[in-house]
Parts: sequence; C-alpha cells; structure tokens
Amino acid sequence: MAEHEHEHVRVAVVGSGFGGLGAAVRLRREGITDFVVLERAGSVGGTWRDNSYPGCACDVPSHLYSFSFAPNPEWPRSFSGQEHIRAYLEHVTDLFGLRPHIRFDSEVKRMAWDAERLRWDIETSSGNLSADVVVSATGALSEPRLPDVPGLDTFPGKVFHSARWDHDYDLRGKRVAMIGTGASAIQIVPSIQPLVSRLTLFQRTPAWVLPRADRRISAAERALHRTLPFTTKLRRGLLWGIRELEIQAFTKHTGELRLVGQLAKRTMARAVKDPALRAKLTPDYRIGCKRILLSSTYYPALARPNVDVVGALSEVRGSTVVAADGTEAEVDAIVFGTGFHVTDMPIAERVVGADGRTLAEAWAGGMQALRGASAAGFPNWMTVVGPNTGLANSSMIYMIESQLNYLADYLRQLDVLGGRVALDARPSAVRAWNHQVQERMKRTVWNTGGCVSWYLDANGRNTTIWPGRTAEFRRETRRVDLAEYAVLRAASDRPRPTRENTGVTA
Ligand code: NAP
Repeated sequence: MAEHEHEHVRVAVVGSGFGGLGAAVRLRREGITDFVVLERAGSVGGTWRDNSYPGCACDVPSHLYSFSFAPNPEWPRSFSGQEHIRAYLEHVTDLFGLRPHIRFDSEVKRMAWDAERLRWDIETSSGNLSADVVVSATGALSEPRLPDVPGLDTFPGKVFHSARWDHDYDLRGKRVAMIGTGASAIQIVPSIQPLVSRLTLFQRTPAWVLPRADRRISAAERALHRTLPFTTKLRRGLLWGIRELEIQAFTKHTGELRLVGQLAKRTMARAVKDPALRAKLTPDYRIGCKRILLSSTYYPALARPNVDVVGALSEVRGSTVVAADGTEAEVDAIVFGTGFHVTDMPIAERVVGADGRTLAEAWAGGMQALRGASAAGFPNWMTVVGPNTGLANSSMIYMIESQLNYLADYLRQLDVLGGRVALDARPSAVRAWNHQVQERMKRTVWNTGGCVSWYLDANGRNTTIWPGRTAEFRRETRRVDLAEYAVLRAASDRPRPTRENTGVTA
C-alpha cells in the first residue's frame, strides 16, 4: 500500500468497555481528536455487553461504579443491573460524541512496533492502520475460560458460558448443571433455580458470601440528585471513603476480617438449616482470600429441594455429568460460570514488541508493567486495567480514571519532547515498581489466606490486585516520570502526519 493511502492516527484505543470509552473521553478532553477506538463486537460496553446472564448486576454500588465525569442521578438501584450499566455506557458514548471514533467489528489481529518509524502497525479484521500510541483496554473479563473436562464433547445437550448466555434456550423445566461458585454463578443460581426442574451446582471451592444490601433508589432520592448534583458527588464520596478504610483489613490488619467471617457464617446458618449442606458450603480458607461475594438470595436458593450441591465437575459421559466426589447427574444443559482468562491477558499474544517478541512471551514468567500501564520493550503501548490494578472491594472505574490521568500525561510528555518520539519503560523501573508491589503483597489476605484464586497466576504470584488504597494508586499515576523511560527518537525525526493536540502543557 502506498504511504499516502496508509491510515495513521495519533492514538488507537482497543476495546470500548469502561476502559476504552473512558480513554476516548479523556483523549477528547485533552484536545486530541485524531484517534480511533477498535471494537471487535458491534456495540460498546465490553464485559457489560457480553454478560447478560439472568441476575447479572454489579456488586459495587452504581454511584461509585460509574465515571466521575458522567454522574448518573437516575441509577434505579443501589446495585444496578447489567442492562442499566450497559445503557449508561451507550449514553456516555453519545454524550461525549464518541461514535465517529469507534470502528465496530474491528478485531485486532496483530500489532507490531515499527522501530524505525516509531509507530504501531495494527492489523484488524476490517483493515490495517498505524498509530503513534496504543491504549489497550481489552479488560480482564473478556475471554471466557472453560475448564478442560474429559468427555465434554460427548455431551448431547446445550452448553454455554455465563458470558455467552444463549437467551434463545428456554431453561424452564430443564435439568441444569451449573459449574462454578464465583460472582457470576452466585447471581445465576437464584435467578434460574425457580425455573428449572433440577439444578446441580458443581462447587470446587465454596465462597464466602455476605448479604447484599440492594434496594430501589427512590424517586425522591433521584430527584434530589438531579436537582442538586453535589448530592450525587457526596454519595459517591461516602461510598468510596468507606472502601478506602476497609481495604486495610485486606492488606495490613487481616485479623479484622474475622468478624466479617462470622457475619458470613451467620448469614449462611439463617438460610441453610441442613448441617450437611452447611458443612459443604463452609470455606476452609480465610475470608477475603478470594473475592467476597455479595448475595442475599444465593443461600436460600441452595436450600430449595430442587438443588443439589456436589463437588467439582470432573467428567462428562454423554448426558451424565460426574463430580469429583463421585456424584452423577443426568442433565439437559451445562452452564459454565468458570470465569475468564485474567492472568494471561489474551491480547498479549497479538502484541509484538521492539525485539520481535510478543508481550505474551515477555510475560511468560508473569505479567508485569510499570505503574500498571507500560511494559519494557513495548514503546508507546499502554494498557488500562493492566497488571496489579484490580481491586477486591472497590470500584475499578476509579482505578481506570487514575490510569487515564497517566495516559493524558504520557501524551503531554510526548508533545513536550516534540518530533517523532516514543517512550519505552526502563526494565529497571518496571522491576522496581513490581518489587515494591510484591513486597506489599506479602502481608495481604490474598497471598496468606490459604486459597488458590484467580488473583494469582500460574506461578502463584499475585499479578492482578493493587495492594493498597485506591488514593495511593491515584497519586502514583498522576504524572509520568521521564526518568522511568528511555526516550526513543526516529532517525529522520519527521513531524507527525496529523497532530491536533491543542491542549499541550509544559
Ligand atoms: P470466577 O470468579 O473466576 O469463578 C469461577 C468459578 O468456577 C470458581 O468458583 C471456580 O472454582 C469454578 N470452577 C472452575 N472449574 C471448575 C470445575 N471443573 N468444577 C467446578 N467449579 C469450577 O468467575 P466469575 O464468577 O465469572 O467471575 C469473574 C470475574 O467477574 C470476577 O472478577 C468477579 O468478581 C467478576 N464479576 C463481578 C460481578 C459483579 O457483581 N461486579 C459479577 C460477576 C462477575 P475455584 O474457586 O475452585 O477456582
């Protein structure tokens, strides 16, 4: 393709979930309009588009689980459902005029760093382009994980994953195997239990579950938030502040979680009268080690007569599903609530860095990034919701907005440096950052609570969670420290083809 036909943009954002849309809004606010958002699906929303299973809702209150720059006085419930969160993201897309930037049905197949021209060459399912900077916002919950179960291919019935719910399949009167007891499964179980004839729940590890104080937000409250916007801010601030205080119990004073464990046990005892079932549902690791789940309907559903709780799914023989404890059940459908590829960021296989290695190869020993954003050898590539930016008890949207501050400063620094220039995270800076993160991780309940969770990678390293208060992360990502980066300049140092950033500050 001749050079003049080649499309080049200042920034290519990958994904249009909370991370990608947030990045797009931030770019526009920085005065940058020369960017595209590449989205493999046909609409925005990311994980909130893909997860439409019955009962899907957020377990972080909506007034906190939303963008600070797009408050929504109309949230219908304290923990709003998926359809409201998805509608919110559609609304944000329109409100900030993002649609012209979004390329739907454009799946990134490969992106490779061109060290000579200092740009990313990007191949997508809808064509090729190049970009000065890539913002990868593919999220941690995008690629469903299915366990490798012997005989699954012999199953004659219906099979689907929680994030790929088949709404055309009628579960009424069916015998259903639900696999997993994570945040998705515990929302699905109470939603489908009244419909199905028999529900067999395959539990590998019981979860700690606390009641969910969900309620309708009254018309009066909504009117108050609409007319006095500072009340929405106040509500958000309170929700955030409480979680900032709570986090110490996970990271430093883990003994404080004992009381929370007692509350969880009491919640279970109230709903589950059968001692054998209670014993099965009682975790043998400390509360907080895995994500604490919130539900007021899960235990009551398990106590219903059409539900059996059995061990992990170990085998499928035709229409018979077999649990590790030997229990067998004949079923019409298998629903996998078995989570996502979190610690092995699937896009990493498609990102080829300066030395020709993929990011997946560079991260073979475990994901690590500088300030959760950039990786050594992958200049001008940053990720939102990157390594060690996840949270156990608060809103990821707050973390995303911190990462967007970092992105904005990164772009400003490139402008200040001027010409064709790129920043490459220094390996020493990446090491130092991760050393500090892992040192802090040592005392946390996630590492010491005696469980195996998706927070930990194949090597047992916690590469997912931020081991501190979210305010600390915000401080650490306010500015890009140029000492942590090598500045790369193109030999020709020619000016960029398009440069529309008018918001340059020194
Ligand atoms: P998940 O937390 O990874 O849970 C997967 C579940 O599948 C675990 O209980 C796991 O057991 C189980 N499992 C795997 N193989 C199994 C087998 N062979 N037999 C029986 N069980 C098996 O996945 P998720 O529930 O989809 O949640 C994914 C993420 O989405 C989490 O971050 C979650 O917090 C988030 N989420 C959030 C909300 C929200 O309200 N904000 C709602 C849904 C999901 P082990 O515990 O033994 O590994």
